[in-house]
Amino acid sequence: MKKHNFYAGPAILPKEVIEEAAASLHDFMGMGLSLLEISHRTKQFESVVAEVEQLVKELMAIGDDYTVLLLSGGASSQFFMIPMNILNENETACYINTGVWASGAIKEARNFGNVQVLASSEDDKFRHIPKNYEIPKEAVYLHITSNNTIYGSQYHNWPDSPIPLICDMSSDIFSRQLDFSKFSLIYAGAQKNMGAAGVTAVVIKKSLLNRAKRKFPTILNYAVQMDKESMYNTPPVFPIYVTLLTLRWIKAQGLATLEARNRKKAETLYAEIDRNACFTAPVNHEDRSWMNVVFTAKNPDHDADFLELCKQGACVGLAGHRSVGGFRASLYNALGQESVDVLVEIMKEFEQKYA
Ligand SMILES: *Cc1c(COP(=O)(O)O)cnc(C)c1O
Repeated sequence: MKKHNFYAGPAILPKEVIEEAAASLHDFMGMGLSLLEISHRTKQFESVVAEVEQLVKELMAIGDDYTVLLLSGGASSQFFMIPMNILNENETACYINTGVWASGAIKEARNFGNVQVLASSEDDKFRHIPKNYEIPKEAVYLHITSNNTIYGSQYHNWPDSPIPLICDMSSDIFSRQLDFSKFSLIYAGAQKNMGAAGVTAVVIKKSLLNRAKRKFPTILNYAVQMDKESMYNTPPVFPIYVTLLTLRWIKAQGLATLEARNRKKAETLYAEIDRNACFTAPVNHEDRSWMNVVFTAKNPDHDADFLELCKQGACVGLAGHRSVGGFRASLYNALGQESVDVLVEIMKEFEQKYA
């Protein structure tokens, strides 16, 4: 029976990507060797890295004033690498707190300079995206998290920032059309919408390189990673290759098509949550995430029953994040409309049994 994969991350990938990635473990690019047993310095693997960088730039429609880095340590390492590389000790960086990941970024930045949290939705259990705050012009950058993977809120409008805008796009990168040139730095762990765990893309304006004056480890320096073409040390070859295959797939679909599909999937599911007598969605309507649909049962006594029905219907990965409970359906690019339709049928069945 086909599984409908709603996991939040690592998450669903296109079937073609899995098949090609599997084939590369036996014979990589006709070399007669596995991808896992060749040097990262071969021209074949160097072409993989070059194509990933070129595809990211093409999909973002950005120019040579940006560089694309492929780094290890997850999006979480960017929480400290960004201020370490960009913020001096006597300077101020601004953050918007929209949830667990934004809070993590704030915590790490405090080790490197002054941090001003301009707005936070914490008092509202992160059920909305803050708007209408003043952005101080003298601050070095403003950091936001475009999609709140755990609480299920998402920016659908961007702050008009007079200072460089930095965005953690880990859970919604390439899910919609966007003016990527608004941002001075975009980062995303690959394992949600762009590939396999182990590689994080960092897209940075070259004008931000070498900004902080402090001394810190060479491997963590963006400028060094740019000079070494993300191969200061041995890069995570397999995740990078899976990312290449995923980016090729994203390009073949096109961001406009992916956006239309993602919008339809999200609209289908939210419409059912709003209609169904058994469920409710906590996030402010206009800030609802298209990627991670968070919802709860009106009667939490039946949480386990709903998850059991999902399991019987081959829908997996629907338990909410362990810190919030309830349910979460992640609707990343590779998830088809039919999977959402199956989930909606299960919700209707649940309503008939338990309403
Ligand atoms: C998953 C996630 C992270 C953490 O990513 P890691 O690669 O596990 O470090 C950071 N930010 C957001 C928005 C995420 O969804």
